[in-house]
Amino acid sequence: MGDAFHVVCHECPEEGMYDSRSRAESACDSHTDETGHNVTMLDISPVAPNP
Ligand SMILES: [Zn+2]
Repeated sequence: MGDAFHVVCHECPEEGMYDSRSRAESACDSHTDETGHNVTMLDISPVAPNP
């Protein structure tokens, strides 16, 4: 439930939010391929509360 990934470029204003790791990774890879920029992906999925 509720996975969230924040892709951010450190060399231009490019950034995006994705709800799946594979989509975030492909966005990351395509920006790096196109620009050679340094892009990082943060897993910002909310931590599931333990009952
Ligand atoms: Zn960039």
